[in-house]
Amino acid sequence: TVTLTLGALGACSAERSDDAGGDGSAAPGDTLIGIAMPTRSLERWNNDGAHLEGLLQDAGFQTSLQFADNQVNQQISQIQNMINDGADVLVIASIDGTALGPVLQQAADAGIPVLAYDRLINETENVDYYATFDNELVGQLQGEFIVDQLGLKDGAGPFNIELFAGSPDDNNARFFFKGAFDVLQPFLENGQLVSPSGKVPANLDGWTQIGIQGWSSATAQSEMENRLNSFYTDGKRVDVVLSPNDSLALGITQALLGAGYTAGDFPILTGQDGDVANVQSIIDGTQSMTVWKDTRTLGTQVARMVEQIVNGEEVEVNDTESYDNGVKIVPAFLLRPEVVVRDQIQEKLIDSGFLAPDAVTGL
Ligand code: BGC
Repeated sequence: TVTLTLGALGACSAERSDDAGGDGSAAPGDTLIGIAMPTRSLERWNNDGAHLEGLLQDAGFQTSLQFADNQVNQQISQIQNMINDGADVLVIASIDGTALGPVLQQAADAGIPVLAYDRLINETENVDYYATFDNELVGQLQGEFIVDQLGLKDGAGPFNIELFAGSPDDNNARFFFKGAFDVLQPFLENGQLVSPSGKVPANLDGWTQIGIQGWSSATAQSEMENRLNSFYTDGKRVDVVLSPNDSLALGITQALLGAGYTAGDFPILTGQDGDVANVQSIIDGTQSMTVWKDTRTLGTQVARMVEQIVNGEEVEVNDTESYDNGVKIVPAFLLRPEVVVRDQIQEKLIDSGFLAPDAVTGL
């Protein structure tokens, strides 16, 4: 069970009444933390996994870190193995946020607390905490970037826009789209933004129609190619593409390059994650920005929450209203994402140590 208490300064905190170690006195060395990551195919999850594992090991915990190849069943059996191996806490970045109910019931039966990492786990009461970047803010930053770059508030336009959304099974994708759509919708309605493909959901709930399953770059590329071939004939040009993250942006970039767009006349294109290939695209002039989530800060926060859970202490959260998983509101700790454009790459990404100095060229 989780009890919520309002702390000083209006900040919220949540406290488990059944702490992980039973009495909170377990030595860290005897405590096993299971870390389930969705895939190795995206740079960020490799970084997330390695960083969190390192922090937990430095704190003296045993760890089991698993990557699931974006296969839901593989992730479920990995979590089952962690439970069988006597995990004391599970940290899970889910693939399909609605598919873990049964295995998390097993975790609950074994008294194992669960922390949802980056992506919320839905339709189960057996998720205790959530730590993530403010997902809606990610989309909002992308939408505001587009509004500013195009001068939409000054009445500029009309501009041709293509909208993309993330994987329909990822709870985050809806929040990303909502954040951006709320900002862009007035300009779609007044005609300053026009979508030649017509792929604009009638309302927020329609976002899955433009979602790219599995966040696949290849699928995003072929979708963009289809739109270019069908709706951008006769010299019509794309002015702006809303891409929710960097993996989609990579595929969209390939499609645009293939259709003859060059760095000098590239559409405005958004992204998220600060992946190396995309930072290189920003330097090269094919991607306009990325919403950077310094995943090191997420790891640090999650490691702190795991220690608090294990020690039976109050678990630090700062949001107790945004993340309803269909069964309950999951107490969350939200971190702030930030925009990175070309001029900020050196300071924000390289000087901070997020990227190695030689990871990109041409700065
Ligand atoms: C994460 C993004 C990531 C996407 C694809 C989302 O849940 O929040 O950072 O780009 O998954 O892996």
